[in-house]
Amino acid sequence: MSDVLAVADHRRGDIRDVSYELITAGRELADETGGDLHLAVVSGTVNDFADKLDREGVDTIHTVDRGEEFNHDVYTQAITQLYDELAPQYVLTPNSVNGLDYAPAVANELDLPIVTDTIDLETDGETLTATREMYGGKVETTTQLEGAAVVTIRGAEWPAAEGTGDAAIEAFDADIDEEAVTSTVTGFEEVGGGDVDISEADLLVSVGRGIEEEENLEMIRELADALDATLSSSRPIVDNGWLPKNRQVGQSGKVVTPDVYIAIGISGAVQHVAGMKGSDTIVAINTDPNAPIMDIADYAIVDDLFDVVPELIDEFK
Ligand code: FAD
Repeated sequence: MSDVLAVADHRRGDIRDVSYELITAGRELADETGGDLHLAVVSGTVNDFADKLDREGVDTIHTVDRGEEFNHDVYTQAITQLYDELAPQYVLTPNSVNGLDYAPAVANELDLPIVTDTIDLETDGETLTATREMYGGKVETTTQLEGAAVVTIRGAEWPAAEGTGDAAIEAFDADIDEEAVTSTVTGFEEVGGGDVDISEADLLVSVGRGIEEEENLEMIRELADALDATLSSSRPIVDNGWLPKNRQVGQSGKVVTPDVYIAIGISGAVQHVAGMKGSDTIVAINTDPNAPIMDIADYAIVDDLFDVVPELIDEFK
């Protein structure tokens, strides 16, 4: 028992970026255990997905052609059966809404321990050492698990796998017990904010409490439009009801990894930074030169946002 079985994430016809990060994490573990990396993709256009997921480091991709979208019961049954077939040491899933839905059920079915939201993994083949953050990133803890385990990984902690692979692509004929499938996806309705997925954006203009009033958000929207960027925010903006929850960056929001993240009037609390520290380039606009965001900013504009933002809008328009 030394292989790793990772389970890709997709949503509404697209593979989610975390799936490629999962390949990197899975490959690292498989190298340490001396085993193979198996990747499962369940539901949707599985053959297209398999082609996209065939990146360096994957040994075999198992496709389960059943249904279009995520379904708890289908995923739980399919992954449990794949585990029985492959007997891997570790089952790896993203710490996403979907991953957190089925991974505990899979662990329960297989009577395996589970460790969630990991940011680093190491194994000597017997003992898995999983690192997690606690208290909003103030401390890191390690958990050691003996033998097989189910593990969820946090997005943006591992680099995305690249390159074209030469994985074997195999259809897995999961024997789904239809009577045990108790839910059906009948459609999608986004909760506010339209179809925007800030975790997939390349350029984010993010606004925080420094904006003071809801009406001042218009200026930030204008800047985002001028840059063709996506608008996101810190938590107080969402708590105030000024932007929908799907725009929130951070520990209790979304993890984002854009090329450029412009933080406007955001202090850089650990819970916020947990969601955006993987950005390639961070620009901070803040009157306080000692705000924690300055510690991770690549470029800092220490000035009043109400002066800076209109100038930027003029410049970029
Ligand atoms: P503040 O910390 O109030 O910072 C405002 C900044 O604006 C300051 O740095 C100030 O100098 C600057 N400023 C003010 N006026 C101007 C001006 N005119 N021009 C330029 N700069 C100006 N927060 C998140 O963001 N995401 C999360 O997911 C999240 N999850 C949390 C989970 C838990 C369990 C807890 C306890 C907290 C969480 N928080 C989260 C809240 C977090 O601790 C902070 O309170 C929050 O991030 C602060 O938001 P902010 O930076 O917009 O506001």
